[in-house]
Amino acid sequence: MADTKYGNGNGNENGALFNTSKRIVIKIGSSLLVDPGSGVKNQWLDSLIEDIASLNRNGAQILLVSSGAIALGRNMLDLPRRPLKLDESQAAAAVGQIELGRAWSAALSKQNLVPGQILLTLNDTEGQAGRRSYLNARDTIERLLAFGTVPVINENDTVATSEIRYGDNDRLAARVATMLGADLLVLLSDIDGLYTAPPDDNSTADFIETVEQITPQIEAMAGSAGSELSRGGMVTKIEAGKIATRAGTSMIIASGKRDHPIAAIQNGERCTLFAARPVKAGARKAWIAGQLETSGSIAVDEGAAGALIRGKSLLPAGVVGVSGSFSRGDAVAIRDVRGAVLGQGLIAYNSEEAELIKGAHSDDLADLLGYAGRRALVHRDDMALLDSSVKLDNKLED
Ligand code: GLU
Repeated sequence: MADTKYGNGNGNENGALFNTSKRIVIKIGSSLLVDPGSGVKNQWLDSLIEDIASLNRNGAQILLVSSGAIALGRNMLDLPRRPLKLDESQAAAAVGQIELGRAWSAALSKQNLVPGQILLTLNDTEGQAGRRSYLNARDTIERLLAFGTVPVINENDTVATSEIRYGDNDRLAARVATMLGADLLVLLSDIDGLYTAPPDDNSTADFIETVEQITPQIEAMAGSAGSELSRGGMVTKIEAGKIATRAGTSMIIASGKRDHPIAAIQNGERCTLFAARPVKAGARKAWIAGQLETSGSIAVDEGAAGALIRGKSLLPAGVVGVSGSFSRGDAVAIRDVRGAVLGQGLIAYNSEEAELIKGAHSDDLADLLGYAGRRALVHRDDMALLDSSVKLDNKLED
């Protein structure tokens, strides 16, 4: 099987991945963090945060996706050990999320790290469904990272109904990783990686250390393993792997059952690596480019057109015309002075505001708008240009 590599440890290769990753999302499963009898496993949490602090000192930005709200809430409310009804688990999440936030805050502060809590629903990360909340969620998390904080993210379980919920944090973590252009996603759970068959049912199952591509064969290996506390078994982890690797984020599935779980991976403890797929224009760019319906258009001068082609964001200074009626987050066409379409993007201002600030220098935006708005009218990450030779690397500097 060319797409997989069997064995017991990629050791230094995985360690190196942590050194080269500038942005890392770590997902922590409920069963690692919560003891069904006594609540938060504080010693384990402290050891994880020591690892995170060390990554942070090495210059990586860390985002945490933490499960555990429902597990903690059910402990605190002393709920029976049977599957909970939706409203019961939502009530448990309401109780447990406060405790979860408190535990993260207390543990992170020991390493002088400040958490910022984000509770997301599906709409906030699926561009198609809610572009405005997508932009807001992403901008807020970007700002938290720029402030040097550690975002601690969970699903907003208390309000999410079945149609608008992820249901498991594996998928949520993958969405967060791709939304923020993370280099690496680490799923810490009670299983150390992918086996050729669910290992509990099959003692001859082989461990897989690298997956170059998620094929139907790989999907078939997932079975449906899950434990009492966590919703996601291997199936949701493979789903997460698809989301992440297609968008250029590598993913590791590793056991978090020991103290210092991240340092252990760095030191060669076995885990499964799903290698990032090479992305040319990025999945997000493809989606933006595929938005057939634009709500308006922005005409830009020659200087701005050149800057866009060099991979820069569209600043108000380069705008010579605004037409149509649109809201923040809508898709707009970007045209040159002759009216030729250069591409399209998601706009950060509504049409009235865009009209107000067109041609203005970035320093004057606050005066014109009456509030400190965003520097770019269309951020380069939110833009897809028609010329396919243009480099659409969303990690270019402004
Ligand atoms: N959001 C849920 C919680 O915090 C966890 C979902 C999952 O287990 O993946 O309890």
